[in-house]
Amino acid sequence: MSWRLGIVEVGVIPRLPLNLYLPDASPNALIDPPCYCYLATDGERNIIVDSGPDRARSGAAGLEIRGDTSDLLTAGLKAWGVGPADVDCIVHTHLHHDHMQNDLMFPNAVVHVQQAELAWATGPDCGRFYVGVSEIAAGLADRLHTLAGDAQLFPGLGVVLNGGHTPGHQSVIVDTSENAVCLCGDMVSLFSNVEVVGSTCPNVDETVAFLDRARAAGWEMVPSHDPELRGRRWYVRLGDDKPAAIPGEEREGGHLP
Ligand SMILES: [Zn+2]
Repeated sequence: MSWRLGIVEVGVIPRLPLNLYLPDASPNALIDPPCYCYLATDGERNIIVDSGPDRARSGAAGLEIRGDTSDLLTAGLKAWGVGPADVDCIVHTHLHHDHMQNDLMFPNAVVHVQQAELAWATGPDCGRFYVGVSEIAAGLADRLHTLAGDAQLFPGLGVVLNGGHTPGHQSVIVDTSENAVCLCGDMVSLFSNVEVVGSTCPNVDETVAFLDRARAAGWEMVPSHDPELRGRRWYVRLGDDKPAAIPGEEREGGHLP
């Protein structure tokens, strides 16, 4: 089974130190990492990998996001030819705020996450990056399905449990007409993280084991937050009816500090 991929940009996290991702970067270097949602369709099923942040919900927890996130996600899906009710499934790499806050936009979607991730994300020590998880999980009710390890969800689309970034992080392996693609999630935030483990992956052993596995498998590695994806194939461009400035254009207009 072969899947077609799309990448929708829904917001930007402003001004993070680049050395979070690349330890050798200058301490003064900053990056505005985009937040992406990945679309996959086999002609019958429409899957989203990660639903992105919600600006208001993240902002209330002190986590700044730029961009009209839910409008951009809706517009990206529309450009792809899909409405919210047409989304059959959401797969979460993990449950940090910038990857999961728009699940409730999709009334028919079954949501898959690793049990270890959900347990951590709803536990007492998870921290503010998991803002909103318990509420959203309650809203999903029996549409929320947990996994325990690697799983084939559909022909040609499966997940590998890898930890590394969070206790139950998983990456998604998708067969396309060209090759097998790994939607890495935050195991590989920037393309460079295929070679370099950043401090965003505190479990180094799990991260290195995953990168070795990926190399052996020959997967094409697609990162989670690399601005370079804007110039790559699969990036979904919005038409003139886009609901908001694409994050990043604000900067060219000089509105950012
Ligand atoms: Zn992230």
